[in-house]
Amino acid sequence: MKKERHWSEPGGITSLIIMGVISLVLAGVLCIYLQSNVFSVSEDIEGGYSPGSYTATADGFGGPVEVTMQIGDNGGITDMSIKGEGETPDVGGAAIPLLQQAILTAQNADVDGVTGATFTSDAVKAAAADALAQAGGGEVATGPKAADGNLFIPGTYTETATGFGGDVTVTTTVSENAIEDVQIVGDHETENIGSFAVQMMGGRIMEAQSPNVDALTGATVTSNAILAAFKKDLKAAGADLEAFPAKEDDTASRKKYEELNTDIVIIGAGGAGMTAAINSAQAGKDVILLEKMPYAGGNTTKATGGMNAAETHYQKEQGIDDSVEQFVEDTMEGGHNINDKDLVTIMAENSAEGIDWLDSIGAPLSKVSFSGGATNARIHAPEDGSGVGAYLVTAMLKKIDELDNIKVMYNTTATDIMTLEGTANGVMAEDEENYYTIHAKAVILATGGFGNNEDMIVNYRSDLEGTVTTSAPGITGDGIVMAEAVGADLTDIEQIQLHPTVEQKTSMLITESVRGDGAILVNQDGKRFTDELLTRDVVSAAELEQPGSYAYIIFDQRLRDGLKAIEKYVSTGITVQGDTIEELAEKIEVDPATLADTLSKWNQYVADQKDPDFGRDTGMEKDLSQAPYYAIKIAPGIHHTMGGVHIDTSARVIDTNDKPIPGLFAAGEVVGGVHGGNRIGGNAVADIVVFGKIASDSAVDWCENGK
Ligand code: ADP
Repeated sequence: MKKERHWSEPGGITSLIIMGVISLVLAGVLCIYLQSNVFSVSEDIEGGYSPGSYTATADGFGGPVEVTMQIGDNGGITDMSIKGEGETPDVGGAAIPLLQQAILTAQNADVDGVTGATFTSDAVKAAAADALAQAGGGEVATGPKAADGNLFIPGTYTETATGFGGDVTVTTTVSENAIEDVQIVGDHETENIGSFAVQMMGGRIMEAQSPNVDALTGATVTSNAILAAFKKDLKAAGADLEAFPAKEDDTASRKKYEELNTDIVIIGAGGAGMTAAINSAQAGKDVILLEKMPYAGGNTTKATGGMNAAETHYQKEQGIDDSVEQFVEDTMEGGHNINDKDLVTIMAENSAEGIDWLDSIGAPLSKVSFSGGATNARIHAPEDGSGVGAYLVTAMLKKIDELDNIKVMYNTTATDIMTLEGTANGVMAEDEENYYTIHAKAVILATGGFGNNEDMIVNYRSDLEGTVTTSAPGITGDGIVMAEAVGADLTDIEQIQLHPTVEQKTSMLITESVRGDGAILVNQDGKRFTDELLTRDVVSAAELEQPGSYAYIIFDQRLRDGLKAIEKYVSTGITVQGDTIEELAEKIEVDPATLADTLSKWNQYVADQKDPDFGRDTGMEKDLSQAPYYAIKIAPGIHHTMGGVHIDTSARVIDTNDKPIPGLFAAGEVVGGVHGGNRIGGNAVADIVVFGKIASDSAVDWCENGK
């Protein structure tokens, strides 16, 4: 079996975005604290509220949090109940009783939040403050209030809330009765996902003149943080938050029908779809690019490694010997030799040209290094070390902007491929306001995989029921369903790749670089159980055999200092830290002596450059000996759906009778066969660029010559 040799995170999928999670350990500590502090409030307690029962809600981590306040006869808060069923049980859920106690003690909602459960804390505090405001007292009653007949006290207000990667700051300027300007700063939000919320939520708020707007789909955490900070601004400006109109109702009943015409319609603005759009527009075709999310990028945005390519000018300039044949061989071996070798060969043969094409659109990938499963240094990444996915998406969007003949339609979901006598001739789609019939000479499917469609996953792989996914929200297999409906054949559909190091509460992928730089995996008994750097499928299978089917990834300060990605894990709150190995062990409820023994043995193996237990021979440059020590609890997560629509080497979709469906082309993760039973790192980006271009070339040819 080939080993994963170097660990720049492969071109697939990094992590889905949530935040505000603390360790199990902290949750455990909280529970103990609560048990020893049973709390009650006298019915006679005095205060400035009106007697009665008052209820208010606010958005928490996993849905609404509802707070009901009981005000006694003497105006004090005598009881309080909090419902937050969507809150993470051992984090936000554990924080709820603590907050309840704090508010009852303080007799107002101005209490400290619980560290690590920021979302739940903010929601409980906001709902409690609203309920107390209804009771005619508390914070709002004593806070600033706009003059009668006005909505706001004119001025500029700045407040912050916690987003995905750190603070999000919202500066709001108001006149007496209008929101004049909203500026949002959230530099730490995930590029091309949360960053879109930072760019777009201000517009939504301004248009609605209200904080009651929808969060940006797929960027809920950042959106909610923006709205929380914005509401704080409004409160500081003396506004009554209850006075703003509720969100608009469902618009389905008043949707209009619209017809559009183009040369090529492309479904999905991920890497493959954008490549195809640019290439088609450069060939002079009019393109409509449909994207169901409010932003482009799909799973491509999450790729942090690079693009595999052989015999490139960068390799030659850097004296790296590689060959198309070796690329094909490595990909076949990595894919357990069930890949479609013709597709693999086409990908390898066209990979160097793909690199040249990226140069030409202003997205050079000049840094070449080794990657898991590759014999030679072959993975091409951005020179500055940034994640390849976000880098390519940014460059491609810029190029699309420059080209007049691409119309990108966001928030627009393709629902059906239209055919006439078996030939694809357009797409049906819809957005919030319209149903579209888009007539086209050719259709390119680039909808990505189905990693975020649990029903489909279970349908093809019932053993994966309940497994978390690292896929982006839009990756729901729509293209596979639409293609099947017009007779397409599917290939390798049950081949689904698990990634072994996924934090389960946030679905955050812990990059392979952490193991590549020297981290180890231990089970709940504090013992190693595998060579941590075997292929993803093998390490995942080994984890599933451990007690509880999970493991901990363990590393030290030296490793943290050398790897930028770790800061994100720390700021998200998924790491547990100990000043000594024993302290870390106690926090993760592992026997301290066993973990210390495991670490000391491992450090000896690193010194000897020999792992007699599991034969690991890579990622052993440095030992784990520099305090503090860290652990992240991980388990396998769905990472890449290798199967999908059957295509030929011209990216024509093949039907169940083994014939091309005229006018229909496909590229990217929606396609099956390229990666076989296991995709190796760096091949997702090679796939989208090479086959995105081929699908486009074929579609252009079809438009011009009908072949
Ligand atoms: P690829 O491998 O093709 O580059 P990505 O995951 O990067 O895949 O991108 C696929 C894109 O397709 C995502 O942005 C996703 O939101 C979009 N998409 C999926 N289904 C539809 C649909 N029915 N209509 C429009 N866009 C879609």
